Amino acid sequence: MDLSYTAKQNAFRMEARSWLEENAPGEPLRSFDTPEGFEDHREWEKKLHAGGFAMVPWPKEYGGRGADLLEWLIFEEEYYRVGAPGRVNQNGIFLLGPTIMEYGTPEQKARFLPPMASSEEVWAQGWSEPNAGSDMANIQTTALIDGDDYVINGQKTWASRGAYAHWLFGMFRTDPDSSRHNGLTFVLVPLDTPGVTVRPIEKINGKKAFAEVFLDDARVPRANRLGEEGAGWSVAMATAGFERGLMLRSPARFQNTAHRLVELYRETRDQGVFIDAGLKDTVARCWMDAEAYALNTYQTVSRLLSGGKIGAEASLNKIFWSELDITMHEAALSLLGARGELLSGAPAAGNVGEWLDGFIFALAGPIYAGTNEIQRNIIAERILGLPRK
Ligand SMILES: Cc1cc2nc3c(=O)[nH]c(=O)nc-3n(C[C@H](O)[C@H](O)[C@H](O)COP(=O)(O)OP(=O)(O)OC[C@H]3O[C@@H](n4cnc5c(N)ncnc54)[C@H](O)[C@@H]3O)c2cc1C
Repeated sequence: MDLSYTAKQNAFRMEARSWLEENAPGEPLRSFDTPEGFEDHREWEKKLHAGGFAMVPWPKEYGGRGADLLEWLIFEEEYYRVGAPGRVNQNGIFLLGPTIMEYGTPEQKARFLPPMASSEEVWAQGWSEPNAGSDMANIQTTALIDGDDYVINGQKTWASRGAYAHWLFGMFRTDPDSSRHNGLTFVLVPLDTPGVTVRPIEKINGKKAFAEVFLDDARVPRANRLGEEGAGWSVAMATAGFERGLMLRSPARFQNTAHRLVELYRETRDQGVFIDAGLKDTVARCWMDAEAYALNTYQTVSRLLSGGKIGAEASLNKIFWSELDITMHEAALSLLGARGELLSGAPAAGNVGEWLDGFIFALAGPIYAGTNEIQRNIIAERILGLPRK
């Protein structure tokens, strides 16, 4: 692995930096988990797209700029550096997009990738069901072939931003006599299909962007199948690899949090507040871990660029970033002391910023994208070769 940047990469960094400095919103947008904030974020995505920065590693004809994954990491560093908005279409651009790139037909690539890159079409992930969370192979929702269509019946749940999204990608049981990982197919479902009912779920913070999706005789063209009939599990595992191993949480996100934590530490120290040695150590450890995660990701990307694939080691990554995120937010709240519980707009809030909100979201990290217990099972079985039970 060569850790120095080429002249081309440095030039790209400068180009991305100056565009972002000029164009990124100066103030945080309203939350993308509200209807108005969702639209604010789509407007921002349109601007990014027009500037050629929506999804830099995608080919130009699909709305990208033909950069490589190293340049994408550089772009992410610059993106977080200016504090640009969260990506409202993250399930599309970071998870489904790369999967379509790998498994889609030329027609599917041309149909789905450009409106995904511009966020004209925002995607939700429809994997979880009431009895299929960790045990995803227990998916019960069926998609039965009828002429040129699938007829879908069942229920999905916990679809992030499903309340406002336009499309849902999911796994469905296309062979009703099958069980477990067999007989599942990956299908793309427009959420305005007759027979689809989207019911928002309110989160602890009062926002209603999560959704349950009910499908009652919903007809979807068979042309919306991604990958082979009955081979949905392997397509989904490729998506999960992108989710856990690389794209959903780029290192810049955690380096940015670590950087803010160190700033907070300095401010607290300069105010003469006593900080115990254990907390100082934690702050230093968080910064080092964020850097280590970045270096590890550079190594993964170098491997992918030389033809490698993401495998079970994605589970190590997912545990690492989700636990680091919690530790960083806990350390920040400890530095803030009792003030940490105040909302940023409260009169005595001072520099509390969004640490409390960030902490609450960080707590979900060990659950979404597959719980950390499940990741530990994968590591035990597939990396360490330990027996199943
Ligand atoms: C913020 C957030 C966003 C999400 N977004 C989406 C989304 O967009 N689309 C989507 O489809 N889903 C989404 N999910 C759902 C998420 O994928 C599931 O919550 C997760 O897979 C766990 O499934 P479950 O909730 O059914 O819990 P369960 O599977 O019932 O697990 C309950 C507990 O038992 C443990 N457990 C279960 N089986 C085992 C085992 N074999 N070994 C050890 N421990 C085990 C789990 O680790 C967990 O602690 C989201 C969840 C969250 C929190």
